[in-house]
Amino acid sequence: MNFPSNDTIVALATAQGPGAISVIRLSGPEAISLTNKVFRGKDLEKQASHTLHFGTIREGERLIDEVLVSLFVAPHSYTKENVVEISCHGSEYIVAEIIKLFLREGARLAEAGEFTKRAFLNGQMDLAQAEAVADLISSNSRMSHEVAMKQMRGGFSQEIKNLRAQLVHFASMIELELDFAEEDVEFADRSALRKLIAEIQKLLRHLLQSFELGNVLKNGVPTVIVGKPNAGKSTLLNVLLNEEKAIVSDIPGTTRDFIEDEVSIEGIRFRFIDTAGLRETEDKVEALGVERTRQKVEEAALVIYLFDINSTTPQELQQEITDLKTSGKPVILVANKIDADQNQLQQFDQLENLVGISASQKLHIPELKNAIVSQVKTANLQDRSQTIVTNLRHVASLEKTYAALDDVLHGLDLGISSELVASDIRRALHALGEITGEITTDDLLENIFSKFCIGK
Ligand code: GDP
Repeated sequence: MNFPSNDTIVALATAQGPGAISVIRLSGPEAISLTNKVFRGKDLEKQASHTLHFGTIREGERLIDEVLVSLFVAPHSYTKENVVEISCHGSEYIVAEIIKLFLREGARLAEAGEFTKRAFLNGQMDLAQAEAVADLISSNSRMSHEVAMKQMRGGFSQEIKNLRAQLVHFASMIELELDFAEEDVEFADRSALRKLIAEIQKLLRHLLQSFELGNVLKNGVPTVIVGKPNAGKSTLLNVLLNEEKAIVSDIPGTTRDFIEDEVSIEGIRFRFIDTAGLRETEDKVEALGVERTRQKVEEAALVIYLFDINSTTPQELQQEITDLKTSGKPVILVANKIDADQNQLQQFDQLENLVGISASQKLHIPELKNAIVSQVKTANLQDRSQTIVTNLRHVASLEKTYAALDDVLHGLDLGISSELVASDIRRALHALGEITGEITTDDLLENIFSKFCIGK
């Protein structure tokens, strides 16, 4: 791709399908002049940036739609190019007609993520920020939204840039020594360098450790509910899901699909997986179910074991949960149906992590939610200033940086030549630069932006 780009791209920026309004976006040198050709209203090329204009889109004399056109004159736009956003009526037919019109006039259909890619290539944002745009669009809970927003606004990038700046300083001092090789001088203070590397590695460790949480925040905490048939699993899931669903699905006429088993509790997304019990069984069909349960438990980050308190003795329960305990996953024991006889709960007093509820009567659901959330809330979450890494690509680069810094330290121990030390530092710089996009390849960009939708 050539930059600055000499072609103008067009795509639907809002979701596919009918809606009240759809927005078609154009970016590139001809964005405004092309729109002007099909727009009846004011002369758009004479209007100021950040203005809004009512008019019609016409193909020849045929009226396609009444629209509102937003103008963003380069470089004051998302892509830093001329950008036009056309709000039209949300009909798939109208959208297709308008886009076809622009293609005939010489615009090109945008590739996936191309608007954001242009924003990155034109220096509007760095790579980590561009990736956060995608995360922000797909965020579905308070925490995943918060982390993506922080990254998009450059919080993470700034941290990486600070680390890089410190390392660049040392790399340049050491490279200076190379120019004076004969004189055998040391411009870079080796003990200060060691200290800096130790500090950077500590920070890298924090960032790497945050990924476990970051991943969970972004993708939801896989939580498996294990329990015998009739323990009340479906009833409990419904109770957990209901509060949220009430907000979105009671709106008449909504056609959205709901992911039935995802629920946000205190801003954290949980993905609930409902399973059969874990008991050994002779029955073949049931045995298959047991095997599947084991697998689900293996994949989960948290296990809820639900049992009917009226038909389970403490001994039976112990047996049931022995297997779960060997999985090493955190297990919350939930005694259901305590509405029948609250005293029953006393028999289970000695068990840790036990919550008594009634799913059907909605008793003690807040306590259960607290118990669930407390399994995820780590120091990282309490401290909102801590950066949380959510992206596997960043993890790989941070790990490479860490390993290169290990080599620097090792080299210093062995007293190797400045040249080799400098080369290890450059490797660390290179790996850090991959995160924010100071260092990129076409393949890397292709890989990142192809995962975006068209129109982003
Ligand atoms: P699952 O097979 O584990 O999914 O269990 P269900 O959620 O289908 O519940 C089995 C039966 O137990 C249903 O008849 C529910 O109405 C009933 N049930 C669920 N929770 C409670 C509860 O808290 N108290 C009482 N008394 N009955 C419950």
